[in-house]
This record gives sequence, C-alpha cells and structure tokens, in this order.
Amino acid sequence: MNSFRVWRPLLLVVSAALLLVPQTAAAQSPAALAAAQPPRAAAATPDRPSYDVTLRADADGTQWTGRQTVSFRNAARKPLRFVDVRLWGNGTDGCGAPGRPSPVRVGRVAGGTPHPLTVGCTALRIDLARPLPYGARASVSFDVALAVPDRIHRFGRDGAYRFLGNALPLLSVQDAQGRHLDPDVGFGESFYTLAGDFRVVLDHPSALKVPATGTTTRRAGAAGRTLSTSVARGVRDFAWAAGPFRTKSVTSPGGVRLNAYWTDTTPASGIEIDLADATRATDEFGRRFGRYPYGEIDLVMSDHLDDFGSMEFPGLVLLSTEPEGSAAVHEIAHQWWYGIVGNDEYTSPWLDESFAQYANQLYYGEDTRTCWQDLGEWPSATAALTRSMGYFADGRRGEFVQVLYRRGSCALHDLERTLGTPAMEAMLRRYARDHWQGVSTTEDFKRAAQAATTKDLGPFWEEHRIH
Ligand SMILES: [Zn+2]
Repeated sequence: MNSFRVWRPLLLVVSAALLLVPQTAAAQSPAALAAAQPPRAAAATPDRPSYDVTLRADADGTQWTGRQTVSFRNAARKPLRFVDVRLWGNGTDGCGAPGRPSPVRVGRVAGGTPHPLTVGCTALRIDLARPLPYGARASVSFDVALAVPDRIHRFGRDGAYRFLGNALPLLSVQDAQGRHLDPDVGFGESFYTLAGDFRVVLDHPSALKVPATGTTTRRAGAAGRTLSTSVARGVRDFAWAAGPFRTKSVTSPGGVRLNAYWTDTTPASGIEIDLADATRATDEFGRRFGRYPYGEIDLVMSDHLDDFGSMEFPGLVLLSTEPEGSAAVHEIAHQWWYGIVGNDEYTSPWLDESFAQYANQLYYGEDTRTCWQDLGEWPSATAALTRSMGYFADGRRGEFVQVLYRRGSCALHDLERTLGTPAMEAMLRRYARDHWQGVSTTEDFKRAAQAATTKDLGPFWEEHRIH
C-alpha cells in the first residue's frame, strides 16, 4: 500500500561521503550458524486453499451475491478442528448498524458449524464437521453477499466505478503463533494468507468492464450480461473492479501482459506514465527477483483515490493516478514482496513495505548513499523496522511511513553496500526462490543475508533495529 506519496523519487543532495556501515570481519563458523537456526516452526495450516466462487452483480456492480467454496489441506501434524475465515471487507464498517448491515455477509455455511462473527465482524470461525487429519483435504461453503461501501476506498467506489479489494472472504492461518485474528489496520495491511488457487465466475452486466486477479475468459450470459471467469494459481488474494472503464493493453518485452483500466476523469498523461513504468518495472523486477509467474497484471486507475492511495493485490493494482503518475512501481514491486514472497503483513510489515520501497528506489536509480545519515535520529526509542502493525496502530501512525518506508528501504540499501551489489542481487534472487509463493519471516531473511557474507551481520541488524 502507499497512501503517503513516498514513491516520488527523492531529490537528495549527493554527498561525497559514503555512509560507513559498521562491519566486522569475523566469519561465523558453520557450528555458530547452525546454532543460530531456530527450531522449525509448526507448519502453517490450512494450506493449498482452492477457492471456487460464483457471484452475480446488480445493474451497477454495487451488490454481488453468490456462493463460495474453499477447500484446503491440513498441513499440521495435529488434526485440524476448525478454520477461520477473514471478512476483511468489514474492516472499516465492522458489524454495521440497524438498517446498515456489514458490507460482507456470509450465510448458509456447509461443511462445518459457524460461530458468531468476532474481531469487528471480520472473523468467522467454522468448526469442521470432523477433525481433519494431517495431509487430508476438506472444504467449507457459504453464501456471500457483498455491498460495495459508499466511500472512495480499495473496497469502495468512485462515481460509476466499483473496487472490490479485500472484499472476498479468505482463509486465515494457524501456525506456531497460533490463530491469526489480528484487527484491520486501515492505514496499512493486516493480511496474512497462504497462496492458493482461485476460480471466480462473475456474472455482470455486459456494460461493465471487470478487471480481476488472474486470467479472465468471457462468454455471454443472460440477455445483456457477461460471465467473466477468472482463474489464478498460486496467489494469496483475489480482487476485482467493475465499471465503464476505458482500457488499453500492452505486452512487456519480457512477455507479461499489462491491462490498463481507467476512470473517465483519470488524466491521460498519468495513464501513459503508469503503464510505461509498470511495464518496465515488471520486467526489471522479474530479472532481479524471479520471473513474474502469472502472465498478466491489471492496472486499475482512478484520480480520486488520493485520500486512500494505491494498493496491491495479486495480479491487480489499484492506482491513485495523477497527471504525473502514481505509485505504480511500488505497487508492482509488491507483486514480489507480499504476493510471490508472502509474509504475515500484521506481524512483519517491513517484509513487504520496506522491500517494495527498496525495489522502487532501485527502479528510479535513487542515490541512497547518505540515506541513513539523512534520516537522523530514530523517531522514538521503541521504533524498529521489525515492529508489528499493532505497534504502529497504537498511536504511532506517524512512525509508520518514517520507519517502514524510509528507514526500511534505506536499511536494505545499506545491506546492499555491506554485502556488495552482486551478492545482494544473488541473495535476493535466492531468497525469493526459497519462499516462492510461500511465506517468509524476518528470521528467514536474516539467515539468507547472513549466508551471503562472511561478515557478522549482528551489528548491522542491531544498528538498523532489525530484531
Ligand atoms: Zn506498499
């Protein structure tokens, strides 16, 4: 996400003095490295989710109703007794009010017994009909009713255009930390899901264009209606939009199709800039971090998202496009850092935001040599790159951008200066490959970085508050 315009290339005064990162030459022995490995965490479960969804839109794409089935595997050694489904679309409105129900409602649950909604009506626990043994699959199904809220938001609207980001209910995760029932933090992301497959059939008026995650095929439905079937494999969310968008598609030299969709007031210059930058960035990041695996990306642009900003979803980015463009490059970088290499965005938001911003600065060729000095003192004694969204949401929203975006990206540039650029590039490629469509943690990243050098990175992590 990027609501703070930190994407603009910063015009820094170039200083001749290079930032000196404390380094020690002491190599760690293999035994010391082995001792530093934490015990293997309990496998995250339920995994390998497969979503089968059919939704029908009303005349303008505000109401979507249908049925959702999700099957999953129990990846943990102990039997799985329940699953949590997250209704993130209720994050802002919670349980609603009389006459104004929650935007996301589920009903007629099959495959288990539902509990009352919790966490502001964003969490639905479903007890499975019988405990699911290790390695076995089961499924739950439920009716879904989505009402796009009347606000400019990733799950919201802009005039005749509807955005359905974070609208579709998703399976939550149980792992070594237990259940993940974190609250929605509006100014960042709280999301944590495992990669899975989606097949989503959207039945909508033919007058509405419907960009969506995945690869979409369209056929005629009932009179005046179209059935758009989107298939996506190895993704951790599914988003779409609907409206009388104008469109244009290009294919990058690297073979990725980019489909631009824009509202009628989005400035033409911004559309061109975003499409060109997104195209070049997709190939550039593919070279750096591993080839983009999903074939296509939809860029959904509006010039009215300025209060909210831009937002990444797998294969679809929502862009706040002004005459000079948007955070397109930062959001494209999220395709790798959050999308392909997943993380618990609530617990370790730096693993997606700092990495996306680092990639963004690489793309723009920013001079970051003095970034750490330029940032000056930490905003507080408790600030750290590895703080959770809970920390930032607790009255420290001001630290969020300063720490995660500015210091986080600078820390990665410093790490690159410590390892050397070729070693950093090779390390990031390896790190991405090792967690491809999986989930990474801070410990995983620190291990990957340490494995790329004989220097002891302990002092580096300490100085950059990567705990
Ligand atoms: Zn971001």
